[in-house]
Amino acid sequence: MRILLVPFEGVEETIIEFLSLSIPSVLPKTSCEVADEHLPIPRNAYNPRRRQYLSTPILREVYGYSLNKNVDRALGVLNVDIYVPGLNFIFGEAQCPGRAAVISLFRLRPEFYGFKADTKLLRLRALKEAVHELGHTLGLRHCSNPRCVMAFSLHIGMTDAKDYNFCQKCRNMIEERL
Ligand SMILES: [Zn+2]
Ligand SMILES: [Zn+2]
Repeated sequence: MRILLVPFEGVEETIIEFLSLSIPSVLPKTSCEVADEHLPIPRNAYNPRRRQYLSTPILREVYGYSLNKNVDRALGVLNVDIYVPGLNFIFGEAQCPGRAAVISLFRLRPEFYGFKADTKLLRLRALKEAVHELGHTLGLRHCSNPRCVMAFSLHIGMTDAKDYNFCQKCRNMIEERL
């Protein structure tokens, strides 16, 4: 399975590079490529009242990009706060199943919570959310095991509590689908 990482404006190259090296070690039989440009965030995604970006048009853009580049999956990486109606914010969203997913680094940064910047922690959190959303694109739903990467994260503590890997049950499902 060919995965294309699609950085949007403001996302550091180093984290994209880290994800492109790490994702194939978690998801068997996948390879990662990186888009050769940073995409602008679709203007219609911004909600000035919430001061956040609606993830739906961004996900649609990433989907279009995946078709254009003829890859199996595309993962957009954002540096802005994203939401869907009914939730205060989201760490990411995916077509389930489908070709496209997005994650946001905005609330994965320790600085957001008043802590000092920590690249290692940010990378680990980003890997968990990336694998989680890619798991959704393979049709996996949320897992009730809080350690499993497919566990739903309501807040950053839940992201930190889970591993970047799948529990055995989810791993079996992933291996069937890859
Ligand atoms: Zn999820
Ligand atoms: Zn699981």
